[in-house]
Parts: sequence; structure tokens; C-alpha cells
Amino acid sequence: MNAAQLLALSFYCTICSSLPSAAQQRQNPSAADFVLRNAYIYTVDQKRTVAEALAIRNGRIVFVGHNDNVSRFVGTETQVIDLGGRMILPGFIDSHCHPSGAYKQFYEISFNSVRTVPEYQKAIREYYASHAGAKYLKGRGWSNTLFPKTGPDKKLIDEIVNDIPVSLSSEDGHSKWVNSKALELAGITKNTPSPEGGVIELDPITGEPTGTLRESAAGLVAKLFPDYSIDELMKGYEAYQQMALAFGITMAHDADIDLESNEIAAYKMLEKENRLAMRFRGSLYVSPKDGLKQVAAITAERAKHKGPHFQILAAKIYIDGVVEGSTAYLKEPYKHVPNSRGELLWKPEDLNAMCAELDKNGVQIHVHAIGDGATGVTLDAFAHATKQNGPRDSRNLITHLQLVSPDDILRFKKLGVIAVTQPYWFMKDDYYYNIQVPYLGQERADAEYPMESFFKAGVKVTSSSDYSVTIPCDPLVAIQTGMTRSRPETVDPKEVLWPGENATLDQMIASFTINGAYANFLEKSTGSLEVGKLADLIVLDKNLFNIPVTDIGKARVVMTFFEGKEAFKEKSLKP
Ligand SMILES: [Zn+2]
Repeated sequence: MNAAQLLALSFYCTICSSLPSAAQQRQNPSAADFVLRNAYIYTVDQKRTVAEALAIRNGRIVFVGHNDNVSRFVGTETQVIDLGGRMILPGFIDSHCHPSGAYKQFYEISFNSVRTVPEYQKAIREYYASHAGAKYLKGRGWSNTLFPKTGPDKKLIDEIVNDIPVSLSSEDGHSKWVNSKALELAGITKNTPSPEGGVIELDPITGEPTGTLRESAAGLVAKLFPDYSIDELMKGYEAYQQMALAFGITMAHDADIDLESNEIAAYKMLEKENRLAMRFRGSLYVSPKDGLKQVAAITAERAKHKGPHFQILAAKIYIDGVVEGSTAYLKEPYKHVPNSRGELLWKPEDLNAMCAELDKNGVQIHVHAIGDGATGVTLDAFAHATKQNGPRDSRNLITHLQLVSPDDILRFKKLGVIAVTQPYWFMKDDYYYNIQVPYLGQERADAEYPMESFFKAGVKVTSSSDYSVTIPCDPLVAIQTGMTRSRPETVDPKEVLWPGENATLDQMIASFTINGAYANFLEKSTGSLEVGKLADLIVLDKNLFNIPVTDIGKARVVMTFFEGKEAFKEKSLKP
């Protein structure tokens, strides 16, 4: 028998050899539901204690320590799992994602696995052919890198579908590519002005709309594409949960819940029917147009959802767009459009007033900021809120953080703001070469996505996927990329994006566990493996500390426990 077979065998050997008798069990009120032993348990407690064994009872951790001391938790009903040295970590927390994106696999055209215009057209053609009678088509996932400077053209869709409206979101979700029918039904012509905070792209020769709508301009066609039903969304969330649990994710922060949509109703129905298999926290979208009256609606909505598995915590504000749309708000002009610094979606005075009002009402604030200018304006607004209301445990969040001034990093610490990063993107990929270098210039492109600087400044840093912008949303891939800042297939030092900003393995793990718990006000109940905390934990096939960093992304989650229940088990391990 080789070592691997031995390991596999020990994994199946679920009944401990030293079981107490039934009488002992009856006298053993401390008997656990599960005892996990012979493991490398990276607890992520304050001292970063490493343990060998852990016991779970009634959803909580009742013991963490040495193998020798765990046997007193073993009763006749206890399931004892010998992990043969495998690694245990707290369950991963994805601090910014869009679980509702999972519905698209059922109801939308997907460009996830295709990267050329003819492939996009093929995907549209096939979907259209297989959905006879559809009144409209939606899709998502085209890449801005294929259409530098301007977005894609309506004619590319018109060639395939010209009788019903078609709307296709870019992979970052910030732009829509529509056909002529959609423009016609929405009444968008060469004379339609771009709305505030958005751009209707126009053909430079004819002046006609090209079919690319950036940011708020996408709202002009929204009414042609009805919202998803509660049932459709529930199906999507359940698909998301299944995928997330297999990646070891036990909590997700839904970064953009729309009060007008059926999303809250879908979460609530799943919770009521006991079908939430992991924990969700969410942020409610706040529009720059609808003023301070939104705050009352948000606080009322927050008060309604206090279940353990679904709660609304924060208000979500988009302060700028994205570099690929030239809509991220920069401190200095773009290189390819020297007269533009991008778009601020809020007037600074309105943002200040909104942040002060949210803060006064105890609402956490979650802001999308890509450009360095956008992050600066957001920090100004947080400082304004603190000045107005006095300091409080606000745990405001800024996410994406593609460009951040060094001075602003220090302000995160001062204001207690959490940095919500997406390490999946820390690499020199197509976006870097085709968009970021030409749009931002070499120097700024090489100063993208700081991470170590945040840690060094003492800022709480969390990690997240922004799923479904990032597919797959496997945290192990992000842990590797946060450490290497390179594409997985290369170790060329020239391909490292901003050397020196590499995070350590401990920092990456913390960003996906205890820091994520903190960002969601749950650090006392989850995020580390300590007695009394909820048993949200995962078993990995390898000890991440013992393998080359370039193999971390290939490691696998083999088991996921959520609140002490087995929520995922790799197929190969199932008896
Ligand atoms: Zn997002």
C-alpha cells in the first residue's frame, strides 16, 4: 500500500478505535457530533495557533487542541474523522460577490468560455435558435479587451437577431452591448443625450449610437428586459450555494441587492424553507439620483431581516466606473484621452451628505471605487461623516481599489475603513497589456492593486471574487495570485504585477477568513477556529504551507462544514 492509499484509507476510517462504551457515552454529556483528528489545523486565532484535533457539537466548536485530549469528546454517536495530516482552515468568506449572477447559467447567453467576436456571435446564434418565441435575449461576459477605445457595435448582433431586443453585459457588468431593436424600442437616437453618469457611445462619422451603453446609460434599455421572478432567483442562489460550498465558501457578502428586484424575497423564501446552506450578508444599492430619502428605506429593510443566514448590513454606492470604459475616476487624466479623468457618479457634496446620513443611522457603507480619484473622494466623504456624527464602529468598506494613492492608504487606517480586494485580478493579463498600459500609461499600470501596503499600514484587508465578474470564484486560486501577483502559468519575474505588493500566505488566509468575518461584524462567531465559535470550516487535500506557492491554486477543498453540518464532500470521498 502506498502513502496515498494509506491516506485515503485513514480518511474513510471514521470510527475511532478507542470508542467508549454505551454506558460511558450515556455518562458523557460532552460527546461531540464530529471529532476531526490527526489534522494540521491552522486556527487563524490571534496567535495563529496550529492544532491537531477539533470537536464539534450543536454547530459549534467545543474543542481545539492535541489529538491526545480530544478523545473525551468521543461518544457512540460521534463521527470521528481521521484526516491523515490534511489541513483544516476556517470556512472562506467572499466579502464582495454577486450570487444572483448564478441565474445566468439558466436564463442568459454566456460568453464565459469564449474570447473572440465570431465566438460571441456563434453563442448568440445558438441561444437564439434554441429559444424560439423569446421576447428578448439577455447575456453577459463580453470582454472590453476585444473592443479597445470604443465598445462593440450593434451591427454584430443585428446580423443574427433583429426582431427582438438583445442586451449583453460586459464581464465587469458596467457596460451593455445592445442591438438596433433595443435602441429603437428604448427610443435612443443620435439626438438622445447621454444621461448623467453614463455614456451612449456614438459613431464618430454618422453620429448614430453604436450599441454600447456605459454605466447609467444602460438604464435606458432596462425596461425592455423584465426582472427575474422569485423562483428563478431561488434556483440561481441554490446553484450558487452548491458551487460556493465546493470552493469552501461558507459566507458570502452580496454586494449589490436591488430593493426593486425580487432578490430579497428570494433569499427570504430560501431562508424560510431552510434551504440556505451557507450564510449571506448583503448591501443594498443606493442611487445617486434618489436622495437622502433612500436611507429610511434602507434602515427599514435592514430591520426586517435579522435571520442568522440572511441579513442586510450595508448600503452600496458606486462612485465611479471602470478603467476599460474610461469611466474610472482618476487623479490625473487618462493617457489615451488626455482631456478626461473619467466620471464621478456622485457629486462630492451629495456623497458627503449621503454618507453622513447613512452613518448617523448606523448603516455600514460599501463603496465601489476603481480610480485613485474615486477612492480619495470616498475617504473624504467617510471623514465628513465621522466629523458630523463623531467616531463609531462603522467598518465602512471600499472595494476594487485598482489605483490608490499612498497617502490614501494611510487614511484607511485612520478612518477604520476596510479594504475589500479581488486578488484574482492581480496579474499582467490581457486587461493589463491591452487596456491598462495604453489607458493609464506604464507607470500607473504598474502601480495597480496594492495589497501589502494595506497590510503594512495596519488596515483590515479582505479578499473577494466579485463573482460573477470572476469565474470560477475559487479562493485558493486567489490566495496563490495574491502571493505571486502573476498569471498561473508563468514564474517570469518580469510578469509580476507590482513586485513588493505580494501578500504572505498567512495574510491571504486571514483576508479570506477572520478579516471577512470582521467586515461582516461576525468576528466573534466565525472566521477562526476557536472554542465557542460556529463550526464553519474546510478540509483541504494539501497543507498549503508545505507546497510550492504555484501549486496552491491547484489544491482542493475536500470537505466543507457549515455550522457544524457537512455541507460539501468531494465525490471521491463519498462512501
Ligand atoms: Zn461587484
